[in-house]
Amino acid sequence: MPSRSPKRPSSSKKRKPTLAPAFVKERLISIYGPIEWRPRMIAIDELIFTVLTQNTSDLNAERAYDSLRKVLPTWGQVIEAETEQVADAIRQGGLANQKSIRIQNILVEILKRLGHFELEFLADRPLEEAREWFTSLPGVGPKTAAVVMSFSLKMPAFPIDTHIHRVSKRLGLIDEKTTADQAHPIMEEMIPENDRYDMHVLLITHGRQICKARIAQCVRCPLVKECPASTQG
Ligand code: SF4
Repeated sequence: MPSRSPKRPSSSKKRKPTLAPAFVKERLISIYGPIEWRPRMIAIDELIFTVLTQNTSDLNAERAYDSLRKVLPTWGQVIEAETEQVADAIRQGGLANQKSIRIQNILVEILKRLGHFELEFLADRPLEEAREWFTSLPGVGPKTAAVVMSFSLKMPAFPIDTHIHRVSKRLGLIDEKTTADQAHPIMEEMIPENDRYDMHVLLITHGRQICKARIAQCVRCPLVKECPASTQG
């Protein structure tokens, strides 16, 4: 993979994490098992689905996505539809008025750029070029771009969602003031390319099952002795 864009922050300004990512990975695998990459959706579907996950649960986003595909089965139909019809179709996913406009704007921009909706060619582009392609779409941020690159295109991007952001801060991989958007390049520099997908899945699983937002269940955690935020000692 190519070197990073000069625009991205240099790791030289970041402090050394308290725990080595490889150590964290090994410990998390000890309870969650090894991770295998599984393709989810084609890239355009993953992109629109990820927009629907913004500020809501995966379950609500899935319901909204299924409803949208049922009412307007092709992305061309979503563009042609009245925005209110798109909003009604995705109502269960929350923020329907904003998301319907965002989805139509993204699709229009993609059609304008490519004349079609097949985004798989980006898998052969350098990581930063593909990221720039996605984040220059209207309303697409680093997390949405990284999700599509990682889950659909099998590229070594590292999406930071709310669970990964919280767990990474507690483990001292990033500092307290680092925002989720700022954490993308930091975590990507810290974690070897081949480990990024596994670490993403492991940290998100840990955040959902043990290192929960309200109460971290440190007594069950395989990192309890080393974690700087542990409540057990
Ligand atoms: S020790 Fe506690 S705070 Fe630290 S990672 Fe484990 S569950 Fe989270």
